Amino acid sequence: MPNSTQSVDPTTDSIVTPQTAKESRAIHRCEARKRDGSVCGFYVGTVFLDGLWRCQHHRPKKRPETAAPVPKLPRPPVAALKSPADAATLASWAAVQGSLGRLDHQRSGAIVAACREFRQAWAAQDTHAKQIAVVVAWERLLDAQDLGDRDAITGAREGLRRCFAALGFPREAYTVPRPGDPTT
Ligand SMILES: [Zn+2]
Repeated sequence: MPNSTQSVDPTTDSIVTPQTAKESRAIHRCEARKRDGSVCGFYVGTVFLDGLWRCQHHRPKKRPETAAPVPKLPRPPVAALKSPADAATLASWAAVQGSLGRLDHQRSGAIVAACREFRQAWAAQDTHAKQIAVVVAWERLLDAQDLGDRDAITGAREGLRRCFAALGFPREAYTVPRPGDPTT
């Protein structure tokens, strides 16, 4: 194992030495000493530091005191998103924390976006459930009509109107059926 550029066998070494200098890139072997006292000689990703070229193994690790301290993040007001109100609470909190600089823009933006996504998914789920309820109520009405049960028909129609109201249909558009009306 060669210890320095001087002792490298040129026939096996593809690394450019100052003597050959055909390589345009400046490649330097690690000049740090290994535990046994020999020079490392490793050449991948060396950097010049404290007077020596050093490979990644012989370069000092990033010291904790010079590394950016991990910021202590504020505690969110909700532990889970269980309702649109939770999402609204968390989104408004994130916006405020972001404006105060307690959350970076990336974090606060991601939280607000996630809350928006949650509310949209919730709304879609809610609408779907209301539409299913219409189908169920309609089916109940058909059953009541098949049986010719006037009270059941009245009840089923009321249930159907409640479903329509839940979907935002104007209540006034539906008139209470009177006896004798065709049950179409
Ligand atoms: Zn090294």
